[in-house]
Amino acid sequence: MSKESANSFDSRRWPGCRSAVGCNALVVATGVRPRRLPGTEGLRGVHHLRTLDDALALKKRLRPGGRLLVVGAGFIGAEAAATARSLGLAVTLVEAAPVPMAHAVGEEVSRALARAHRRHGVALRTGVTVDEVLGHDCEFTGLRLNDGSEIAAPDVVVGIGSHANTEWLRGSGLLLDNGLVCDEFSSAAPRVHGVGDVARWHNPLFGVPMRVERRTNAAEQGLAVARNLLAPAARQPFAPVPYFWSDQYGMKIQAYGHLPGHEETAVVEGGLRSDRFLVAYRRGGRIAGVVAVNMPPKTLRPWRAAIAAHHEAGKYHSPGGEEC
Ligand SMILES: Cc1cc2nc3c(=O)[nH]c(=O)nc-3n(C[C@H](O)[C@H](O)[C@H](O)COP(=O)(O)OP(=O)(O)OC[C@H]3O[C@@H](n4cnc5c(N)ncnc54)[C@H](O)[C@@H]3O)c2cc1C
Repeated sequence: MSKESANSFDSRRWPGCRSAVGCNALVVATGVRPRRLPGTEGLRGVHHLRTLDDALALKKRLRPGGRLLVVGAGFIGAEAAATARSLGLAVTLVEAAPVPMAHAVGEEVSRALARAHRRHGVALRTGVTVDEVLGHDCEFTGLRLNDGSEIAAPDVVVGIGSHANTEWLRGSGLLLDNGLVCDEFSSAAPRVHGVGDVARWHNPLFGVPMRVERRTNAAEQGLAVARNLLAPAARQPFAPVPYFWSDQYGMKIQAYGHLPGHEETAVVEGGLRSDRFLVAYRRGGRIAGVVAVNMPPKTLRPWRAAIAAHHEAGKYHSPGGEEC
């Protein structure tokens, strides 16, 4: 995505702007769209999930005893695979990385999630990419992978990431780089703010820019921007502890914090071979985040507080006080 230098915003410079709409401030909340798998254009049976209609179209095609291919073992792919298995479909999950979701949760937890997929009967194919999309008469029929193998199925869910919807801002002078680049106040330029999936803002709690694709974050950032717009003299930086959850095979996976770039992990409750554990992540001597599976809120709350308070990692004692 292009980087454009900008300090100021002027709607008259927008190439597509035919009529002027006056405003005191602009909030950019145009979200993201799914990355498409090349070669899938115009084929029935190819599903990119973003809207309710996308989900309903997929639901109609999932029949017990059927087959489903899933490309990409991120949240969307992993949840689609788990749901399809629970409905009685044979599922093959194809992932380019050696383990699923490693970029999000690190290798140890990724391996635990890979074991869960396999235990529930998913054919998990990691370290392979799609060489060719196969189709006949406008119907998807399968995939050829880069190891030469072919997998046949009438449907494929493509969950290979997203593009930020920022094309409409090209030429505006705003800085675009994997989203709308914003400072710690979610501000991209005087009186221009980014909110939700599209915003890559500097989170001062972790000292890094981040773009968080979560509904909870979009809502909180929207509230924070609105407050700052209404009371500019008392404006506050947006410094949340990012949170996500994912439901897969009866496992409630929850994570707090910013996990990429962590230096060390420690299992502080349960075990990675069980369906109940809590893993803490350390970066720069601080607790950067936790991932928990099937843990009650009362266990997670003190960890969230410790991340927000920038607690030192110490020996990974539970922030609640008990030694783990
Ligand atoms: C399959 C799936 C499952 C998910 N599950 C979860 C979950 O369990 N928990 C969770 O927290 N999050 C989940 N998410 C993420 C969540 O949906 C997003 O984080 C949230 O929708 C972001 O809100 P937003 O307002 O930033 O963007 P969106 O909800 O994407 O809204 C952006 C809107 O802007 C419109 N738009 C785009 N370009 C323009 C333009 N140029 N002009 C005018 N309008 C435009 C779009 O059409 C869209 O309506 C999931 C996402 C997907 C795809």
